[in-house]
Amino acid sequence: MTDATTEKTPLKLLCVTAHPDDECFAFGGALMLAAKAGVETSVICFTDGQAATNRGDAASGAELGRMRREEFVASCKIMDVTHHELLDYQDAQLEFADFSKAAAMLVERIRREKYDVVLTFGGDGAMNTHADHTMVSCFTTAAFHWAASPKRFPELGPVHVARRLYYNTTHFFFPGRPAPLPAPWTVTLDVSSVQERKFEAFGAHTSQLPLMDKFKGFFEKRAGQEVYTLVATPEPRPAELTTDLFAGL
Ligand SMILES: [Zn+2]
Repeated sequence: MTDATTEKTPLKLLCVTAHPDDECFAFGGALMLAAKAGVETSVICFTDGQAATNRGDAASGAELGRMRREEFVASCKIMDVTHHELLDYQDAQLEFADFSKAAAMLVERIRREKYDVVLTFGGDGAMNTHADHTMVSCFTTAAFHWAASPKRFPELGPVHVARRLYYNTTHFFFPGRPAPLPAPWTVTLDVSSVQERKFEAFGAHTSQLPLMDKFKGFFEKRAGQEVYTLVATPEPRPAELTTDLFAGL
């Protein structure tokens, strides 16, 4: 029997990224499993990726940015992302962005949308140690904590205590590339059920296909799992190994 008064409102997940393709490449499995489980998913991406090495047939940075915006939308659609937003920050320049402004922008969104779970990169900058990934990690970490603090940005709405902050981390490294210093994982996600769709979402990033061609075989062997680290919760607790980002929520 369904009783409307006791029906739970869906959980909300926010994923904060730096470049179009991070959403599928790093977080795709988590986003799709969440959507399958009825969680409302949102992706906020800081830049339109104009500084990418692979440039498709774009004649200028602005044109590549426009292409990558469309690719981002297509990828989010394939992954059933409920809301997506691509901001106007400059690719490869996030370390010079105004920290307080970037964090405040996320605080406002976390308070307004009352997210339960927040995903982002770790401080290592992910597999390719990109400084933008590190900065997104810093902005999002500050915003997760500051959204819950009445002392920070009181003008940006009532405080909201999100329940979990996770960093994406890795259990393998790119061959022949400088290795990151990744956080140990606490969550192992079996994403094999959505693995094919993850590749499909990556395929929507047409301008980045040379990258995929280069690493496809390597990824295919490893794409069935994503690993995350629980880094903040409102309850004091020992670290524990789980297989679900929403355990206990
Ligand atoms: Zn990236």
